[in-house]
This record gives sequence, structure tokens and C-alpha cells, in this order.
Amino acid sequence: MADSPLRTLRDVATLRATTAAARAKGHTVGLVPTMGALHDGHLSLVRAAKQRCDLVIASLFVNPKQFAPNEDFGRYPRDEAGDAAMLAQAGCDLLYAPGAEIMYPEGFATTVEVTDVSRPLEGESRPHFFGGVATVVTKLLLQCLPDCGFFGEKDYQQLLVIKKLARDLDIPTEIVGCPTMRESDGLAMSSRNAYLSPEERRIAARLNLVLHDAIKEARAGEAIAEAEAEAARHLLAAGFSRIDYVAMRDAETLAPISALSRPARIFAAAWLGKTRLIDNMEV
Ligand code: AMP
Repeated sequence: MADSPLRTLRDVATLRATTAAARAKGHTVGLVPTMGALHDGHLSLVRAAKQRCDLVIASLFVNPKQFAPNEDFGRYPRDEAGDAAMLAQAGCDLLYAPGAEIMYPEGFATTVEVTDVSRPLEGESRPHFFGGVATVVTKLLLQCLPDCGFFGEKDYQQLLVIKKLARDLDIPTEIVGCPTMRESDGLAMSSRNAYLSPEERRIAARLNLVLHDAIKEARAGEAIAEAEAEAARHLLAAGFSRIDYVAMRDAETLAPISALSRPARIFAAAWLGKTRLIDNMEV
């Protein structure tokens, strides 16, 4: 891509040589893994990386291993040129956009599986998902060997999974969590919001409001299970077609809670037609 606004690397050897040269100069390296179709949530990670690291690399790879056969891999939005322009504008230094043949060469046979924090919530609804995420993120971290990796709290369970794999596998990268960026009506920014019809987009804004209400009720003393059930009822009444879960959980272990005695978060996954939205927030 000769006229890309951002230097783009496509293979592991060039990435390694580039990060090794930066480290040899005493520069720190930050990696921001993405699946592209970028929005301001992704760019907030780039900005956080720029504050912490000298060389900021964003990766772009739509990872087939984290989609089940019936999911949206084929129609997931792809716009590398547009993404490169946004990254350059945000001050990103390099784009790493490997092809599938680089990430999963013929004969690829390894899966990284994180137990415990992978199991509930997304793990129950999308059993293939965290195996795919953990495998690709492990590869990206080992390919790049960044000092810091930046991930959004929008995917809070994923952030816990990645922290755990980095710790368990002695990957020398600090995993940094960054706050969820939202639209003006509170909808968490997501590449999948592009799937929503105008009517669905209007309903989608209810998700964060219903979670705020559930937090208020639980803080006011309502039983956790009742606050969860009421939130699910409100989402269905607002027009969501199906609820995968609405759950308040321990913020560290994701274990179910019966009282707000330790740091907790509320998590939800709900469908609007063919689009599945997730959100979470601190209780
Ligand atoms: P994705 O391209 O959806 O795989 O996301 C790439 C990274 O951006 C992940 O670490 C996400 O958690 C993060 N991210 C996605 N949406 C947001 C958001 N609204 N605010 C902050 N980070 C986000």
C-alpha cells in the first residue's frame, strides 16, 4: 500500500526487527490490537498508548478463530485504508496488518485456553470465543513483544482473560485496561453498531440506561437477582429481541454475588435483530 498514510507491516520478521530496533534505542513499545472498523473507542487506546510508550503500533486482524461458523465473520466491516487514515491522525506510528496465512499458517494446531475467567458470561454464550481471542492475542504479544498492551474495558471479561494469559505464560507485557468510550446517548462505541437500523440504534441506547438503573436499584438495597431480572425485562420491553445475560459479578473473579460487599460490575449481552450488543459498567 504505497500511498497508505501509515507505514504498514505485514509479517512477523519485519515487526520483530522494528520493535527490536526501537528497544535497542531505549524506546518503549505499545501495542493496540484491533479488528479494524475503527471508532473513537479504538483511538482512545492509541491515545493512552502514546502517553505511555514511545513507539505505538496498532494491529488489524479480523480473527476468524473467534467467530463461530454461524457468526458475522463474513460481514464484519473491513476498511483498512480508512482505519490507517484514522490511526495516522491519532498519532499511531505503525500499523501491523498480517494476513491469515501469517497468523495461521498451514498446519497451525495450537489453542491458548484460559480457564476460570473465560467460563461464565461470554464463555457460556459464545463457547468458541475466548479460545480464539486468547490464541490471537498471545500470538500478537509474542510477535511484537511490546512493553504495554492496551485493551478496552468495553470487553471487560476479555481484558481479564488477557491479563491472566500474560501473567500465566510469563509474557513480559503490562496489560493496560482503558475506559469504555460512549456515544452522546451512552451507547458503548462498537464496530458492530454499524449493523443497526435507525430504529435499532434508537433502542440500543436503552442498554446502558437499563444497566445504570439496575445499579441504582442494587445500591438502594434491591436483591441482586431481582435487579438483574428487572433489567432483562426492561430490555425486552424496550425492544431487544433476546437477552443472553444480565449479571452482576465480582469484578475480579466474575463469580456470582449476592451482595455488594466487594468491587462488582454489571454485564449484559442482548440482541437487536441479528446484532448482538454487549456492555458492562462498575456497580
Ligand atoms: P475490537 O476491534 O472490537 O476487537 O476491539 C479492539 C480493542 O478496542 C479492544 O481492546 C476493545 O476492548 C477496544 N474497544 C472496543 N470498543 C471500545 C470502546 N467503546 N471504548 C474503549 N475501548 C474499546
